Amino acid sequence: MPDGHTPWPQDRARHYRAQGHWQGENLADVLRTAAAAHGPRTALVHGKRRLTYTALQRRVARTAAGFLDQGVTAGDRVIVQLPNVPEFVIVCFALFRIGARPVFSLVSHRATEIRHLCEISRAAAYVIPGTHQGFDHTRLALDLAAHHPCLRKVFVLDPPDHPDAADAAAAGLLVALDDVDAQPHPLPAPDPSDTAFYLLSGGTTALPKLIPRTHDDYAYQTRATADLLHLGPHDVYLAVLPAEFNFTWGCPGVVGTLRSGGTVVLADTPLADECFETIERERVTFTSLVPTLAQLWLEAAEWNTADLSSLGLLQIGGARLHTHIAERITPVLGCRLQQVFGMAEGLLTLTRDTDPEHTVLTTQGRPLSPDDEIRITGPDGHDLPPGATGELLTRGPYTLQGYYRAPEHNARAFTPDGFYRTGDLARLTPDGALVIEGRIKDVIIRGGDKVSAGEVEAHLLTHPAVAAAAVVPVPDPYLGERVGAYIVPTGTPPALRDLKQALHTDGLADFKHPDWLAIVTELPLTGLGKVDKKALTADAAARTAADPAPSPKDTP
Ligand code: AMP
Repeated sequence: MPDGHTPWPQDRARHYRAQGHWQGENLADVLRTAAAAHGPRTALVHGKRRLTYTALQRRVARTAAGFLDQGVTAGDRVIVQLPNVPEFVIVCFALFRIGARPVFSLVSHRATEIRHLCEISRAAAYVIPGTHQGFDHTRLALDLAAHHPCLRKVFVLDPPDHPDAADAAAAGLLVALDDVDAQPHPLPAPDPSDTAFYLLSGGTTALPKLIPRTHDDYAYQTRATADLLHLGPHDVYLAVLPAEFNFTWGCPGVVGTLRSGGTVVLADTPLADECFETIERERVTFTSLVPTLAQLWLEAAEWNTADLSSLGLLQIGGARLHTHIAERITPVLGCRLQQVFGMAEGLLTLTRDTDPEHTVLTTQGRPLSPDDEIRITGPDGHDLPPGATGELLTRGPYTLQGYYRAPEHNARAFTPDGFYRTGDLARLTPDGALVIEGRIKDVIIRGGDKVSAGEVEAHLLTHPAVAAAAVVPVPDPYLGERVGAYIVPTGTPPALRDLKQALHTDGLADFKHPDWLAIVTELPLTGLGKVDKKALTADAAARTAADPAPSPKDTP
């Protein structure tokens, strides 16, 4: 097994090559080829910063050489935790260039998540923003390095000026990203069938898992999605969601736009006012949002007078889009809607330009690839008759064959013949479009963020006031779902704010903290003795229907 991923069986790999899906392309070459063809055009925009393809490619080549000088080498895992800034793109392509592997982390991740990523990936380096939105990432990184000797370097975008940082810099541990810069020299090209980078799983287990994406498979995903959207050099993509989301990075997103010679505009915030101004100024042609944001944009568009006429397409995915919101996209924003269902693990389904309006409004579209295989199965694992709702299983040319270093989980998450059990409940319409009806995995989708119930429960259980805990989704008109916690107390019931504070102190990312709390004397059990989450989810829905959720302004 190559370090990094479980390979596809040979016959399927041969087939994907023969079909032209895998073309032996590596992701560094995707940018290099685009730069050769579109040198003077604008590749990246962030605020007032603009980089042409030539400038971007030069920065990538110099940063790649700089990383090598700093001891980062092919095969090293490097945790990359940056906001939507050009350096995110530069660092990732530089690492692709030398065959090192970015591990995508969310900027909202804190000590718990980063420690886990470091342990599972045995990362050699960690790239951070310095201080971002009041959080000192440098302190976290230095603390981590003190306990994880495999972490040899911390690269920081804006070096802070506290004494610990100065000491770490003097010791060669902390390096300013600006100093990762050297004269480029010829390098062996990474093998296209190797892992290019790792995405994070939405997480059904207590700890997130790493999804290896190969050069070949991701090059295919970005090529096929860019082709589907007919992207070209005149397209301008606004990256609103975090760039490290698969949706933003490669559906076709940042990578697909760059491979097409278009322009990527990096947004600092998803707020409608700022994004609308950027759309008008940069003549943005397409963007991608989760339903929560789409809903907020629709509301803002009622009174915001920005010129959105350049916007041709809005992709919406990551969580369920209600038809009544879908119906308002074109009339209010004046652009086409594309529904996208996808997962960092691979499979993407999308509605097409040529689909009837009803399909675009009510389904999540058809698979991206003719070689995406889909099965809908019942609880016994057998295929269900056409049109029935069951668990969605899939395999294909860009869907993983196994999580990184997770053999036990892989044994459950895949069938023996390599189908990935998505945990989503779906049905197929007679014309082959997928409709997502729910999920059986224990995950809450809060806005676009995925929260593993098991992970939050494990943290809640460490609180002295908590005897038992169950975390379930609570319906929310804006976020779709919020994180609800049922707690059996040991004595005096804890307050929601105390639990949030405890999880914050634990270093668990804030978006995973419970938004809603119910104190109970016991948790209901199923006939098999497991906590009955269905009953709790229904109970939470009933209780919150009587006491509706506050607006998103109150639930950051
Ligand atoms: P992630 O890997 O973080 O992108 O999360 C993937 C999961 O998000 C899927 O397995 C679904 O549960 C959910 N998801 C993504 N897109 C949609 C959609 N359009 N409708 C409903 N759920 C979605």
